[in-house]
Amino acid sequence: MSRVTLVAVSLALGRTQDVTDALARAARARDGGADLVEWRLDAIADEPGGTEAALRLCRESPLPCIVTVRSHDEGGLYEGDEAQRLALLDAVGRGDHPPAYIDFEFASMRASANRRLKLMLAVDHPGPIRTGEPRLILSSHDFATRPPNLLQTIVAMWADEACTVAKIAWRGRSLRDNLEVFDILADRLKPTIALCMGEFGLPSRVLAGKFGGFLTFARGDDEPGTAPGQPGLAELLQHYRFRSITECTSVYGVVGWPLGHSHSPRLHNAAFESSGHDGVYLPLPIPPEWEHFKATVGSFIAQRRLNFRGASVTAPHKEHLARFVSEHGGTLDEMTTICGAANTLVVEESGALRAHNTDAPAVLDCLAPMLGRTSDDLRGVRALVLGAGGAGRSAAAALAQAGAAVCIANRTRSRAEAVAAALNGRPGTHGEMRVSAVEWTNAANCACFQGIVNCTVLGMAGGPAPDESPLEDDAPLDGVVVLDSVYAPRLTPLVKQSLLRGAKVVEGLAMFAAQAERQFALWTGQAPPRGQFAEQLAGLCR
Ligand code: NAP
Repeated sequence: MSRVTLVAVSLALGRTQDVTDALARAARARDGGADLVEWRLDAIADEPGGTEAALRLCRESPLPCIVTVRSHDEGGLYEGDEAQRLALLDAVGRGDHPPAYIDFEFASMRASANRRLKLMLAVDHPGPIRTGEPRLILSSHDFATRPPNLLQTIVAMWADEACTVAKIAWRGRSLRDNLEVFDILADRLKPTIALCMGEFGLPSRVLAGKFGGFLTFARGDDEPGTAPGQPGLAELLQHYRFRSITECTSVYGVVGWPLGHSHSPRLHNAAFESSGHDGVYLPLPIPPEWEHFKATVGSFIAQRRLNFRGASVTAPHKEHLARFVSEHGGTLDEMTTICGAANTLVVEESGALRAHNTDAPAVLDCLAPMLGRTSDDLRGVRALVLGAGGAGRSAAAALAQAGAAVCIANRTRSRAEAVAAALNGRPGTHGEMRVSAVEWTNAANCACFQGIVNCTVLGMAGGPAPDESPLEDDAPLDGVVVLDSVYAPRLTPLVKQSLLRGAKVVEGLAMFAAQAERQFALWTGQAPPRGQFAEQLAGLCR
C-alpha cells in the first residue's frame, strides 16, 4: 500500500462572504506546495447562502479539495441542524464539481442509519461512474486525550465499506502517543490519516510520510490553523523537508523542557540538507522528571522502524542522559564521565548508545584561539568560570583538563565548592587538574584572569535577570577574553560591558555553533558544513 503522502492545507471560513478571500488563500497554499485544500465550513454550513458558498469553493478550488463540516461534538464549530449539514454535503457531492473527498465523523454516521444513507448518496453516486466523484474520509477526533477505544475505532473504520480513508486524531498526552500513531499507520488496512494534536504531536505530522500516512495537515502560512499543533506549510515543506522523508530517514531531535523556540531544529535540518544526510530533526519536549525522560527516550529507541538515531539534550535532562546511557550499558565520553552530564545522545545502528558532552570542548573551541592557544594546551592560563550548573561544570572541567588553573564562582557557593571538589586533583592532559571555588561577589576583581566564562543565566532573555551582568561595573577586563555562554540576546549586558571595558568578546552563539557542529559530526560521521551553523545562528538571532 505504498504511496506518496499528501499535504493538505486546512482553511476555515468564518462567513459566507469570505469565499473569494478563501480561494486566494488556497491559491497561496497551492503556490506554496500543498496538494489538497480542506474547506472547513463549520461556521457557514447553516448560514443563508452556505450551500452556494460551498458549491463555489468546490467549483473554483485551485487544488483538489476535501469538504468538512466538523460537528461541535468532535471539536468543530458546527452546532446546527444535522439535516442541514447532510443537505450541504449532499449538494456538493452531487454538484457538477464535486470535492475529491468529503470528511464525516464515524460516530455521527453510526448514530443514524438514515444519516448513513444520505451520506452514501452524497459520496457514492448511483448510476454510471463519473470522474471526480467524492470519496469518504471517515474520521474520529478526541481533543482532550487518547480515546480509550482507539484501536477498536480505527479497526471498525477500516472495516466499514463506506470508508475510503480512515482518519483518527487525538490530543497527544506525551511524545509517546506518536509511537502509537506510527504503529497504526504502519499496520493500516486502508489508506489512513493518524495524528496527534497539541504540543506533543509534531512528530506524527512531520513523519506521516515515513509511515505511509495518506496525508498530513498544515496550516496556511501566517494563519492560526484549524487544530492545535498544525505546522505551517513552509515550515513543513522547507524546514522539515517533508517531501524528502522516507521510511529510511533517520530521526533526531532536541530533548528539553521547556523547549520554547529552540534554534536547534533549524540549524540541524539545514545542515542535514546541505550535507545530503538523510535525517530529520524535531523538537522533542519531555517533562522534567527522570521517569518521563527514561520512558520516552527508551520507547523512541525501542521502536526500531522509527530509526531514532540521536538527540541534543538540554536542561533539565543533561544528567538524565548520562544516567540513562550508563544504565543501558552504553558508553560515556570522558567529559560526560567527569561532569556527570551530557548533551548529545548517539544511537548506533546496532542500538548501542553513546553519551557525549559537546558543551565542554565547545568552550575550548571558542576560548583557546582568542587566547592565542590550542584547545589541548592551556597551561599557564588562569580562567574564571561564573556559574556551577551544567554549563559551568562542563566549562570548568574542559578548561582544567587542558591545563588551565580554574576558579569557579557561583551565587550558591556550596555548588561551586562541590564542582571544585569533584574536579580538583583529577588527572588532566597535563597533570592534575587545578580547580578552586572563589567568592561570587567581586570574583573577577583580582585582575588575574586571562579568560572569563559566564555560565549563569544572568543576561538571558526570558530568564530571571535579563538586565544583569554577573560582573561588577568596575571589573578589570582590559585584554581579558570573555565568553558569555548566554546567546539570546546576542548583546547581553556582559557582552556590552566587556566591549566597553576593552575585553575580547566571544558571544554565546559561537559556543552554541561549536557544540552543534560537534553533534552533527557525531551523528553523521561527516565534517560539519563549514561556517554554516554560525552563519545561520547569526541570522536567526539578529
Ligand atoms: P543551570 O544548570 O540551571 O545553572 C544555572 C546557573 O545560573 C547556576 O550557576 C545558577 O546559580 C545561576 N543563576 C541562576 N539565577 C541566578 C541569579 N539570579 N544570579 C546569579 N546566578 C544565577 O543552567 P546551565 O545549563 O548551566 O546553563 C547556564 C547558561 O548557559 C544558560 O544561560 C544557558 O543558555 C547557557 N548555555 C549556553 C550554551 C551554548 O552553547 N552557548 C550551552 C549550554 C548552556 P545557583 O546555583 O546559585 O542557582
